Amino acid sequence: MSARRRFFVANWKMTRTPSRAAELARAIVALARPAEVDVAIAPSFPALDRVRAALLGSGIALAAQDVFFEREGAYTGEVSAAMLKDAGVSLVLVGHSERRLLRGEREADFARKIARLKEEGLAPLYCVGETRKEREAGLTRDVLRAQLGALDEFAAPPPGLALAYEPVWAIGTGLAATPEMAADAHAHLRAELAVRFGAPIASSTRILYGGSVSPAGAPGLFAEEEVDGGLVGGASLSASDTAAILAAAAAPRA
Ligand code: PEP
Repeated sequence: MSARRRFFVANWKMTRTPSRAAELARAIVALARPAEVDVAIAPSFPALDRVRAALLGSGIALAAQDVFFEREGAYTGEVSAAMLKDAGVSLVLVGHSERRLLRGEREADFARKIARLKEEGLAPLYCVGETRKEREAGLTRDVLRAQLGALDEFAAPPPGLALAYEPVWAIGTGLAATPEMAADAHAHLRAELAVRFGAPIASSTRILYGGSVSPAGAPGLFAEEEVDGGLVGGASLSASDTAAILAAAAAPRA
């Protein structure tokens, strides 16, 4: 039986105004029973404070969807790790495929972001995943290995590091990876972590699956020993779907 606690992270993307985000957070707090599962919610920056207030006393952590890689200064529109920490954030997504695709961010940027998070004691959730074209070309493992290059400069894993395997073709498409595909990719990522940081760290690092996780698909995904939880977009915008996925995540591990 794995010692890794299951982890559910909601990525609300650019979908909720602060007032609607607070409302959704309150609905999730009312339904969710996170005793067996670690839970974090990542609203957009302007909603952080309202969601933080809604989550008070719930045991659900506040997360952010991104961070800038400089410490401070003349970077109009950017948000620093210190600002996120002061806002009550404890976990930050780095390397989401939407940042890679829309903003052209690359491993060197993510390495710097992770370094800034480490300085502030914030945990990174580093997202990796292949495109449909890369999978069809048999390149999935090479792509994942290259994306883990963002961790090359760290002799030890950044505290709190977790990975999210998010095949790009599964995000927001309703077409989740099969449990076998997810388990295979996670095992590969874990082997790569072992090469970098040693087997004990690899076996204690949580690897979440993301990409069209739904109440119907979650039990199959979470039945895989390798799958330590989910990074969930669309379904996390419904409190009842979130509660159903959390219930699947709380089921005892094989
Ligand atoms: C995501 O944005 O990280 C994600 C997995 O989205 P969805 O669950 O909607 O596919």
